[in-house]
Amino acid sequence: MTKVNIPFIYSPIYSQLSLPERHRYPIEKYRLLHDWAVSRGAHASQWKAPVALTWEQVEQTHSASYIEKLKANSFEKAEWRRIGFPWSEQLLTRSLTSAGGTTLALQIALDSSIAIHFSGGYHHAHQDWGSGFCLINDLAIACHQLLLQHPNLKIAVLDTDVHQGDGTATIFKNDPRVFTCSIHGEKNFPFSKSLSDLDVPLPKGTTDKSYLQALQNALTSIARSVKPDIILYDAGVDIYTKDELGHFHISLNGLFQRDMTVLSFCRQNSIPVAAVIGGGYQRNLERLVRGHAQLLRAAYYVYTESQYLPDTALRSPENEI
Ligand SMILES: [Zn+2]
Repeated sequence: MTKVNIPFIYSPIYSQLSLPERHRYPIEKYRLLHDWAVSRGAHASQWKAPVALTWEQVEQTHSASYIEKLKANSFEKAEWRRIGFPWSEQLLTRSLTSAGGTTLALQIALDSSIAIHFSGGYHHAHQDWGSGFCLINDLAIACHQLLLQHPNLKIAVLDTDVHQGDGTATIFKNDPRVFTCSIHGEKNFPFSKSLSDLDVPLPKGTTDKSYLQALQNALTSIARSVKPDIILYDAGVDIYTKDELGHFHISLNGLFQRDMTVLSFCRQNSIPVAAVIGGGYQRNLERLVRGHAQLLRAAYYVYTESQYLPDTALRSPENEI
């Protein structure tokens, strides 16, 4: 096998969260995606362990009053319902570690062209409130942390999760250093949308062809008008037709083509990219992980000489499970 060098950022903490039985959040998918990569030849030297951020770092992005409430578990019940997780120390540790992971991915990508974070995409967290399984916005936090080190960078957040990146949009509403682009289901959560720098709302039932065309148009626009120094890519797989929350009809091959389109664009334009795996909601975890694995496959196709994963069955939509 050709030597591979794509950095993978992962912590076992990502799947360590006690949730009520039948909770819809697929907490095991992080570990399973890690295991999937290991079983297909990911090398020990690729794995980078994130460090949990401090609350002081988080305060660059979220308000001090919100952070105090998070730490002390002093929300109203309705606020926790909006977030969708029960409070626990585990949850706080996991959120800080995941934000550390996206931050690390963005920092590593600046030097190594690509990095993939096996978590992240908590884009519904706003400055003062959380929602939709998102306590703190790792995407926004990572951008702020990178900008502390490199204040002149122009960052583009390309969010292709089926849900709009509303928290990220509002956090960077008045910040010209970060361009926010969200391609999402117009009828999917959040039902009250925020204003990104570029929003591409798509209708229920969107299929591969029209989706990939919309993505290509957005990338062309970003290349022309934004000229980012680095891209933070949310590769949520809840656009997949089998997703239990998403409204699109994107095939497994469509997921792969989306990731190929984004990563090829970044490589051709010499724009470093840090990808996070984002959302994806299926009770069938094997199928869910196979969806997320398309990002890893695409990364190998674009960034190495290796075809890497020799599982050719994955290339064919007929073999969807
Ligand atoms: Zn989502």
